[in-house]
Amino acid sequence: MDEKLPEYAVIYRNIKYPRLEYKTGVLTLILPKTHKDPEQILQKYQEWIKRKEQIIEKAIEEAKNKTMTLNRTYGELRALANTLVETYQKELNTKINKIILRKMKTKWASHSKNNNLTINTLTKYLPQELIEYIIYHETAHAIERKHNQNFWSIIAKKFPDYKTKEKDLLTYWFIIQKHTRREEVKEPGV
Ligand SMILES: [Zn+2]
Repeated sequence: MDEKLPEYAVIYRNIKYPRLEYKTGVLTLILPKTHKDPEQILQKYQEWIKRKEQIIEKAIEEAKNKTMTLNRTYGELRALANTLVETYQKELNTKINKIILRKMKTKWASHSKNNNLTINTLTKYLPQELIEYIIYHETAHAIERKHNQNFWSIIAKKFPDYKTKEKDLLTYWFIIQKHTRREEVKEPGV
């Protein structure tokens, strides 16, 4: 690469082939344990990386025009999550075992094999429609674990504009990161 290499994180896993992901804005290389040369991967995928960086830059740009929802409490988020899961598991004819609220550094939410949903407490700063989208998305993972065509067709039935929602979520990630960093400065050690 003739330009300077992008900042990235490396995770080693028991996998066969290297993989690149943007975990909420941070380029992450997921490499087989035997792989010794992350920069070779960066070279190989530089076009893909460039495209992704452009999307992220745009999201940061758009973040300037959006504001956070600041008045939702943790308890309100919990109540909203409970109600939404209740509704969506009926709609999708599935059953979520447990809803866990926890602060997470790299994602809005996740669904585990034993059908638990973990929701990032930072979602309390999101507009309700995005919380709805996140919870529907995770509940749908109870039916389809992978982000394949089948999965997105389930999502599109309820959220035809899911691509916009995904983009907005990336934008909000940057807004919230900025805000919570400021909070950490104000209250060190919290
Ligand atoms: Zn997903």
